[in-house]
Amino acid sequence: MGEYHYLCCKSCRISLNLGKKLGREHSRLVVQGVYSDKHRTWLNDGRAWFIIQAFMQQHQGHELMFVSDTEFPQIQLYDYVEGDGFLV
Ligand SMILES: [Zn+2]
Repeated sequence: MGEYHYLCCKSCRISLNLGKKLGREHSRLVVQGVYSDKHRTWLNDGRAWFIIQAFMQQHQGHELMFVSDTEFPQIQLYDYVEGDGFLV
């Protein structure tokens, strides 16, 4: 288990899983990235930014939120979009 974080569109009830927060140097916290079913790992390079941009553009003008499943349990009822779908 653990606390997972999501970028989600409340208007469309769609979520993009960004994983757990990880501690980095100077205790800066970062999310794992975007999970790739294709590569079976978290993408945290330029591909993650590309996927996040695509998600934001697809939902431009909608009610976007960055939440964790602890603070927003309704996220479990949202559809899950796979990041790989945004990569050509
Ligand atoms: Zn939307």
